[in-house]
Amino acid sequence: MSYISVRPFLADGGRHNDSCKISTQESLKCPFCFKEIETQILDGILWTKVNSLQLFMKCKSCNNSFIGYANYNQGDQIYKISSLSRGNRNKRIFEKEIEELSANFVKIYGEAEIAENENLIEICGGGYRKALEFLVKDYLIKKFPPKQEEIKKKFLGNCIDEMIDNPKIKEIAKRATWLGNDESHYFRVWGDKDLTDLKKLIEITVHFITMEIQSENYMQNMN
Ligand SMILES: [Zn+2]
Repeated sequence: MSYISVRPFLADGGRHNDSCKISTQESLKCPFCFKEIETQILDGILWTKVNSLQLFMKCKSCNNSFIGYANYNQGDQIYKISSLSRGNRNKRIFEKEIEELSANFVKIYGEAEIAENENLIEICGGGYRKALEFLVKDYLIKKFPPKQEEIKKKFLGNCIDEMIDNPKIKEIAKRATWLGNDESHYFRVWGDKDLTDLKKLIEITVHFITMEIQSENYMQNMN
């Protein structure tokens, strides 16, 4: 067992008489740069009643500081850091073609991401599913402006089946919708697939749509 010792402040004043041992074996990611960090602790406060520590910590990589929350483990008589205070949000930045195509997709995807970062796993899937719907529908509205009203009202699955002619976008978006529906409904059809698969399929859909827009732009500019 590897650990470091800290003589913390006491929550109700003064320094603690003894040192506390803190485990360095937890794999922790810096909440600012998201790199794996060594446990570097500058100081701490001990809450004796609940036997927990709040540790002032610093990332060696980006130099930001944050709080580590540690609880006492009776078995090996060591404090283990179980969570860190919040830093930056880990936000997906989309290509400008996607930002221009569907600002709503980018906004809803960002909200789903916040839910996921907050560990609200049961609701973020539904958010990603909604984001996908805006992406696909805005893509179709761009292609068929006169059909805007029809596209808005149509089920997403029918939009994909009937209106997407690019076979790759069609097949991937269809699968993303299947998994997205699993995230929103009581019964799971695709039990072996999860949120990671849904996000990957959305990524691939984004990729193909970006590629299509970029190649069309070049064909128009270099006619
Ligand atoms: Zn960092």
